[in-house]
Amino acid sequence: MFPTMHKILLQVLAFPLFLIFGPIFRIWRYISLESEFWLETSLKRHEEEVAKIVEQVKVWIKSGRGTKMTTARPGWKSISVTKTDKSKYFQVHVGLDRIILLGEKEESITVEPGVMIGQLSRYLFKRGWTTPIVPELDSLSIGGLICGVGIESSSHKRGLFHETVLSYEIVLADGSVVKCSEDKESDLFHVIPGSFATIGFLTAVTIPLIPAKRFVKLNYRPTSSIAGLNSLLKSEPNHDFVEGLAFSKNEIAVMFGDMVDTVAPGKSVNYINRWYKPFFHDHAHSILKKGHDSFVEYVPLIDYYHRHSKGIFWVIPGTTSFTSYSAFMFFFGWTLTPHIPSQRLLPVTLWKFFSSGNVVQDYILPMKNAQKFFDKADGILKIYPVWLCPVELKKNKTMFRSQGDGDYLDIGYYGHPAAANFHPVGTLQDLEKECIANDGFQLLYAESFMSREQFRDMFDTTTYDKVRESYECSAAFPDVYDKVGPKARNFLTSKD
Ligand SMILES: Cc1cc2nc3c(=O)[nH]c(=O)nc-3n(C[C@H](O)[C@H](O)[C@H](O)COP(=O)(O)OP(=O)(O)OC[C@H]3O[C@@H](n4cnc5c(N)ncnc54)[C@H](O)[C@@H]3O)c2cc1C
Repeated sequence: MFPTMHKILLQVLAFPLFLIFGPIFRIWRYISLESEFWLETSLKRHEEEVAKIVEQVKVWIKSGRGTKMTTARPGWKSISVTKTDKSKYFQVHVGLDRIILLGEKEESITVEPGVMIGQLSRYLFKRGWTTPIVPELDSLSIGGLICGVGIESSSHKRGLFHETVLSYEIVLADGSVVKCSEDKESDLFHVIPGSFATIGFLTAVTIPLIPAKRFVKLNYRPTSSIAGLNSLLKSEPNHDFVEGLAFSKNEIAVMFGDMVDTVAPGKSVNYINRWYKPFFHDHAHSILKKGHDSFVEYVPLIDYYHRHSKGIFWVIPGTTSFTSYSAFMFFFGWTLTPHIPSQRLLPVTLWKFFSSGNVVQDYILPMKNAQKFFDKADGILKIYPVWLCPVELKKNKTMFRSQGDGDYLDIGYYGHPAAANFHPVGTLQDLEKECIANDGFQLLYAESFMSREQFRDMFDTTTYDKVRESYECSAAFPDVYDKVGPKARNFLTSKD
């Protein structure tokens, strides 16, 4: 269908503004990150910023603890689809967005929670390092990836983003600043992930480093079912990255990736993130359609990490169909900023226009039950492509229930449901029930319609409840269900 004129105008007139503001923002962030690295001022500045947070908590205590607290992080900065209405809370400005300490000898980095993963990956890559997990979208913040959960194609061996974290620094409800790790304040350490700012204000995170290599050798393999994906995974378990993209119920591309420093003779490098290149999922689909049993190519490491940023997976091409025309991308592809919050600078109504009628949900299920869930969703949702990301879940004290066998699959739906019987609430409630019945859980950055009882069935809050009691969180922060449940959130409001 030929794109409508107002959509073209929107793309051509509004997005180029990001050409001006995007680089200014990036240059400013680059200079501030690098200057602190060379001047070694970041630790002192960090302590001053944390003291300001403590001060705000003390003001809240002095004011008689009348309302509960939340971060003042504005809705437009957040990628999460649903937003908590923060107007009724005492809002604490956290705004920590710098790198604190690069410990090359210790092979770890300590960062503030507002640092975005795209900044961090590039900052480290230049110095020959990377973090074990680099979620795809440039603009996800480290704090959001921990308190709201993060996952990526290396999760099949490294788990969820927080499972790689070595320690946290957090400001608690009494204004104390506590450092916690697996060995120190272990319960607190385990309940920060997925807590959605209901335990305290995260102020620093220490993440291990691994050596980065220049390229990813990517092998595209076809399969026709989740069972097929699993058996490919079992036959090749040692890859650095594994991701699946389902283009229909029986049409799945599985990509196995390995970090390498050299490109095999006769092979060239595909710079998949250049502005004129097709969106990554379209590229993978075109390879799948050629019918190869195996297709190998090399892509630069940073391009691989952020391969879904340009299209926010397939959300951008799904809502602005003309971005799929190669001629449009050649002339105007540069207008698609990878910096997602700047897309939110468009008035919220415009963003609503973009996303109306779309579903954005992730469900994590034991691999053995994933096909059943996938089939059910095919019947009542029918959204394609579907993101398939294997994840290893350890049994520990976090809220995320693991049956102990480790093999899970994240099934991500981002797009317009084509199922005739789709209902915006009823269908998602059916999927929540199906998810619970199959020992899975959904990611809470998206929409949730569960009752409190269903929520407790889906998540194990034993340690979370214990920590909330011992650190007097109940008077200070809402319970996680009250923060993310159906009554707590407005869909895409600008209130927060
Ligand atoms: C289309 C789409 C695709 C996605 N794809 C991926 C993906 O590939 N991989 C992935 O991992 N995730 C993905 N996500 C989900 C995303 O990781 C989560 O939504 C994540 O929480 C968003 O990060 P954010 O920086 O926007 O966090 P926010 O939405 O800003 O924060 C999430 C929660 O963390 C809390 N928080 C943030 N900072 C602090 C702090 N300093 N102290 C206390 N609490 C804090 C916030 O209050 C909030 O409750 C996707 C989301 C969408 C919409």
